[in-house]
Amino acid sequence: PHSPRKLAAGNWKMNGLTAALSELDALAARDNGCDVLICPPFTLLTPAVAHAGEIAIGGQDCHAAESGAHTGDISAAMLKDAGASHVILGHSERRADHAETDASVRAKAVAAHEAGLITVICLGETEAERDAGDTLRVIETQLAGSVPDCATASNTVIAYEPVWAIGTGRTPTNDEIAQVHARLREKLVERFSDGAAFTLLYGGSVKPGNASVIFDIEHVNGALVGGASLKAADFGPIIDALA
Ligand code: PEP
Repeated sequence: PHSPRKLAAGNWKMNGLTAALSELDALAARDNGCDVLICPPFTLLTPAVAHAGEIAIGGQDCHAAESGAHTGDISAAMLKDAGASHVILGHSERRADHAETDASVRAKAVAAHEAGLITVICLGETEAERDAGDTLRVIETQLAGSVPDCATASNTVIAYEPVWAIGTGRTPTNDEIAQVHARLREKLVERFSDGAAFTLLYGGSVKPGNASVIFDIEHVNGALVGGASLKAADFGPIIDALA
């Protein structure tokens, strides 16, 4: 019976050397007024935590296993140990570049929840799927397959990110976003007793100039932001539009 928390989440992707911590300092010094999350590359996690103040720090992926022979991978417990509170899972770039599937994302989410992390589970249609009229079917399938039964409104955030809107400067219409978010909410309410309280993010070319219009859409409780999260001068106004 509680309502969704608002969240402004930044995904730095494979960007950020030590000097980028000054952007975190600038964000931490602001009066943000809503939950803010930054997901830097793994190499910056530990220093980022020291610079973050009230800002939450997350990873961009984790492995489903607790430990073992998985060269180059990071476990959920390692993220937690480094001071992360969140992890992005199933980003379309991971699905495309690393062949992640709904099943592998779900397994990672279970591991993340067991380690005490909040998951930000990403889903979204490709341009071909939208053109074929398959958007709602695709996002329903991804939601059902990627989100584990252990998900709750406290440990899981869902991010709708149309693949064709990521890093392109293109966004769906407000009606298109509203339609997907309404369907996500409906399916979460059907499946989870606290489905009404899950935070639902929109992601894909969110900028200072379009953020407030997007945040006015029903069931949009925040954003997952790539490019415009790299500089506090861009991300700050997006946070303000949400708060
Ligand atoms: C993202 O990668 O999650 C994203 C939404 O990127 P951008 O904001 O750059 O489109």
